[in-house]
Amino acid sequence: MSWQHRIAAALTERQQQQRFRQRSLLEQSRAGWLLHNGKHYRNFASNDYLGLSHDARLVQAWQQGAERYGVGAGASGHVTGYALPHAQLEAELADWLGYPCALLFNSGYAANQAAIGALAKAGDRILADKLSHASLLEAASLSPATLRRFAHNQPESLQRLLTPQEAGETLVVTEGVFSMDGDSAPLGALHQLTQQAGGWLLVDDAHGIGVQGEQGRGSCWQQGVRPELLIVTFGKAFGISGAALLCDNDTANYLLQFARHLIYSTAMPPAQAEALRAALQAVQQGDDLRQQLAANIARFRHGAAQLSLMLLPSSTAIQPLLVGEDSQALTLASRLRQRGCWVTAIRPPTVPPGTARLRLTLTASHTADDIDRLLEALYDAQSE
Ligand SMILES: *Cc1c(COP(=O)(O)O)cnc(C)c1O
Repeated sequence: MSWQHRIAAALTERQQQQRFRQRSLLEQSRAGWLLHNGKHYRNFASNDYLGLSHDARLVQAWQQGAERYGVGAGASGHVTGYALPHAQLEAELADWLGYPCALLFNSGYAANQAAIGALAKAGDRILADKLSHASLLEAASLSPATLRRFAHNQPESLQRLLTPQEAGETLVVTEGVFSMDGDSAPLGALHQLTQQAGGWLLVDDAHGIGVQGEQGRGSCWQQGVRPELLIVTFGKAFGISGAALLCDNDTANYLLQFARHLIYSTAMPPAQAEALRAALQAVQQGDDLRQQLAANIARFRHGAAQLSLMLLPSSTAIQPLLVGEDSQALTLASRLRQRGCWVTAIRPPTVPPGTARLRLTLTASHTADDIDRLLEALYDAQSE
């Protein structure tokens, strides 16, 4: 077999499984709407939950940062890429979330790889919620530690895996708000079990930060839990991109020695860090945005219940509609698109086989009319 053959075979297989993934080229993409081939759609597929990606305060901060610091960092943070905006953002995040330290990463994917990759050693065990994000499970399975998964959001299942062990450390891994299901982890119970076993809890709160809890401090704050390791990402409610790991001083210093993503990768542009500082302020002052989002979620769930739609039990901005078969999910998504609503069909391997779904996301930028149009379109698409 040649490379070409192998690649062609993999593509054919994907196509036959109806799992071929394609990107759509968009002329504009905002939290509430987008433009595709000159046509306007209501956007129910964005993670820009507060609509900050086009916020004038953030755009201006980025511009001013670029004028002052240029558009690129020029080197990794260990060389000459660590600038004042990085340090300020790290300090502000740590203070806001109640941790001694924050370390910036270029993406949530990188942060998860870096943290798990640098911490987990042979003889350790990583116990992860079965539905954890690909970046977490991948990092865990690439590490020399043993990976075991516990049943989704079931502390009893974690407890069964937490048998006493003689050597090695224990890392328990979960999301705060699950990206494909929209439900929240029982963080208090998970943390308690983890602590009893002498382990550490890592929470990836990509979909909770900015949205959940007081001032948008996220799922952990909302549930009164302070995990030893907290990952927050900036590509969702913060409207930009990048991530931070919140931890104690020694752990931060350890990662600065051993996390390859920090050492061998160019730092985030300082101008972006400036924009993220503005995003942090917007999030902190964003109660009106969170209220609007909550109102949209309530309106949608109320309407969906009246239409007997098969929604998963989620109270967050992620409102998945369970469909089952891949082809059915695709058909439904395209019918919704014909009705001016842009939604994504999520299929395996992103979710377990037989649980293909429409992952509807609501944002603060949607109006009541947007929500009503979506409900109408869902009703029509299902009964077509
Ligand atoms: C989006 C996401 C990531 C990846 O973050 P990026 O900054 O987009 O790389 C990691 N974990 C979870 C749970 C996510 O939803």
